[in-house]
Order: sequence, then C-alpha cells, then structure tokens
Amino acid sequence: MIRLRFAPSPTGELHIGSARTALYNFLLAQKLGGEFILRIEDTDQERFVEGSQDRILAGLKWLGLKWQEGPDVGGKYGPYVQSERLTLYKKYADDLITSGAAYYCFCTESRLSELRAEQEAKKLAPRYDRACLKLSAEDVDLRLKKSEPFVIRLKIPEGTTVFRDIIRGEMSIDNSTIDDQVLLKSDGYPTYHLACIVDDHLMEITHVVRGEEWLPSTVKHIILYQALGWTAPEFAHLPNILNKSKAKLSKRKDGEAVWLQTYQKQGYLPEAMVNFLAFMGWHPSDEQEFFDIPELVESFSLERVQKAGAIFDTEKLKWFNAQYIKKLSVADLDQRLQAWYAPLMAMGRPVANTLSLTKVLQSRLEILSEATANGAWFFSSELNLDKNLLVSASIDTAETIKALEYFKQKIVEMGEWEAGKIKTDILAAAEADGWPRKNLLWPVRVALTGEKFSPDVFEVTWGLGKEVTIERLYQAIKVLQQ
Ligand code: GLU
Repeated sequence: MIRLRFAPSPTGELHIGSARTALYNFLLAQKLGGEFILRIEDTDQERFVEGSQDRILAGLKWLGLKWQEGPDVGGKYGPYVQSERLTLYKKYADDLITSGAAYYCFCTESRLSELRAEQEAKKLAPRYDRACLKLSAEDVDLRLKKSEPFVIRLKIPEGTTVFRDIIRGEMSIDNSTIDDQVLLKSDGYPTYHLACIVDDHLMEITHVVRGEEWLPSTVKHIILYQALGWTAPEFAHLPNILNKSKAKLSKRKDGEAVWLQTYQKQGYLPEAMVNFLAFMGWHPSDEQEFFDIPELVESFSLERVQKAGAIFDTEKLKWFNAQYIKKLSVADLDQRLQAWYAPLMAMGRPVANTLSLTKVLQSRLEILSEATANGAWFFSSELNLDKNLLVSASIDTAETIKALEYFKQKIVEMGEWEAGKIKTDILAAAEADGWPRKNLLWPVRVALTGEKFSPDVFEVTWGLGKEVTIERLYQAIKVLQQ
C-alpha cells in the first residue's frame, strides 16, 4: 500500500510552502491509490505555539484536502501527535545505544558553547568533537546512576552515503561532513531526525515528499535507517518557493505573505489557491491552465516537478482568482461574499438580498475583500452627497437638475428591468433628445453611488432596482435645490 504523509510542526501558521507540500502529497496519494496521513511533529517544545495545530488543520481543510489518518480522525498507526509517542522514540534510541550506533553524551551546554567558539575562531564548521565517545562503559554507567543529564548522539559512520531522490536523481554525501546528531534530548524528547524516521517507519510511509530545505537531513535519515536495519522510503524534495526577487519566500523578508491564511482572509478562493499552488513547481504536459482537484489527481506526477525554485507571483495568483470568481454561479459567489457584505449590511438600508449587487460585482472582483469597498453604494441608507461632485465641470446646477429629472423620468417609464435594456433604451432616448452622454451620466452616477467612480451606471441602476434608483435621484435633486 502506498502511504504518504504531511508532517507539520505546530510552530506557527501554515506556510505557503507547507501547503504546497501537503497538496502534492495529497494528490500523489490519490493518484497512486494510496493513503494520505497527517502527523503533528511537536517535539520542539521551545517553538511550540498554542493553537497552531488547529490553524494548520483548518488551512488544509479550507483547501479541500482530506486525510485518511491523523490526530483528528485517528487510525491504526496512531497516535498521530509525536508528543504522545515519546516512549517509542526512547526505545529505539536505547536500541541504537545497544548496537553501538549511538552513544551517550554528557557534555554540558557551557562545554559545547566553548567548543563552538573555539571552532569559530579557527574558522571551522561547528561540530561535536566526540569527547563522550571515549568514555568507558563503567564511567557511563556511573554517570547514569548519578542521574547526570545526557543526550543520545548518532555515531555517524565513516564512508559515503548514497541515495536516490525522485526529482534530483542520485545524491552522494561524504559522511565526514556530518556532525554526530543528537537523537534524544536531555528533556527526554526526541529530535526531529529520530522521531521522523521512527514514525515514517512505524506508519509504513512509502514516499517522503517534502521541501528542498530537508535535503541535508535526508542523509542523516538514511544513516539512521541503516543503523536500525530498516528499509528507507523513497524520497522526493520539492523546489523552494521564491519571492519576486528570487529569494526563498520567508517570514523575515515577505512577512505575512508567507502564510496561507493571509490569502484566505483577503478573499482568495480555495479552488484558485489549489490551482496556483499546484503550479508552484509542477506543470502539466499541455497548455491547460485551470485544474480542479480531480483533474490535478489525473495529471499530477513527480516526474514533472522541476528542480529549480518556483516563483510565487501574487499578480498571477490574483489573475487566477479573478478567473475563478467569474466562473462561480451568482448564487455561489453571493454566498461567499456574505462575510464581506455583513459589516455594510449592518450599517445600511434594509436589503432583502444581495444577488443583484453580486451580479454587478462579479466581473470586477479580483479578490472577495474588494466587495466591501466596491459594494458600499448598494447598502447606504443615506448617501453623503457632495454638491460639487454632483455638478460636473461641463454643466451648471440647473442643467444637472434637468439631467437627473430626465433620467428619473426614463426610469419611471421603464418596463422590463434588465441591465442591457435599461442601457440601450436610455442611451437611445438621450441621443434623440440631444443629451451628451457625459452630461447625463456624471450626475446620475454620483446621485446613485455618492462616488466619482463606480461600476457601470446602468448596472448600478439595475442593481439598486427601480424604487431605490428613483428615491436616490429624487434625494440628489433635493440637495441641489437647497
Ligand atoms: N516537521 C517537519 C516540518 O515542519 C517535517 C519535515 C518532513 O517532512 O520530514 O516541515
């Protein structure tokens, strides 16, 4: 059985790169008829952030990803949270000591920092000097009996480690470049390396697909698999996600733009996000641009994942989003916009439903949050009309009143209420009656929206409905007559 996993650490928000990793694992598991497992790697207690796990899960669910096993759904390989599996890691660390593949290290923090400082001064790479490897068995026993704090370190063997990465091909690393990794910390918690391989093994993970930043860890994992006599899974390391200046997308440089939920809050659609994330390192073999999840499952393969970093282009993402907004049914879009309309609705005139506004906005929105600013005119109970804005540069007050009266009369006479018809009828009449378009439409736009800029005047008219349009024109005339 093919089994893939996504193994986030609850140290903050769900990073865009992690969301992409989760998506690829999810797609592959489905494509290969396998299972997708969610595991929480919370062994770094110092970086633990309360609430982070819930937000990560919420982000994955928002994207539409589902897992067969995980902390919230259980499964026969559980528990799926590493802090609930501590005794397991301890057992394997002890096994490694017994076989001689690992050793106790009693060095104090102060000795280690002195060592680091010395190495730094000599411009050497910091690494453990194996002082504790020289301790006699009796010495070790004695220190353990005295309950001296210790860590367990992996003894990196001599030689070269070779493994194959599905995306990068054969990787060969000289073991002499690797430090003796800590596997079990003095607080009894495993480090990432130990916990990760014990869990991948026990959970029978067949493919480890993760970000490129984990590549240097993989050689250590291979050495651990060998030391424990286990078969390693297959590995694929996904390319970095880069910002516009081609630097790795990072919290320090890119701020909140690295978090998935930033986009959710701004009103990106999950469908657009999935489509866009899929393209962060992968491309189909043809020109197809729009993919829903089933189509991605069909087309996705690791063979088509690139090695080079993928640029996260927010303009492109916006474009994708606008296309997805256009494709929604008005009713669906209207439902999704309710959260953005709500504050306006609370303050404005009583509105029976917002479908007409949604219809007016649909072709204009790039992200849902724009609906708040672009749709405010619809909800206003009383527009704050500016006389100077109502009267355009080309006509005076008297002429402006005439324009508003003219438009109002046409609306009163209007039979069928349809945006296209309102436009053609009024424009035809205006032309026959000698109204320059601008002189007529400028004051109407301001009267109906209170703004200089708005969606098309006729669509606004249609969106407001006959009654509200007449009422607003009347109010504007009143303001000008005062
Ligand atoms: N816990 C690691 C992370 O936060 C997982 C790395 C891996 O997939 O092995 O990304």
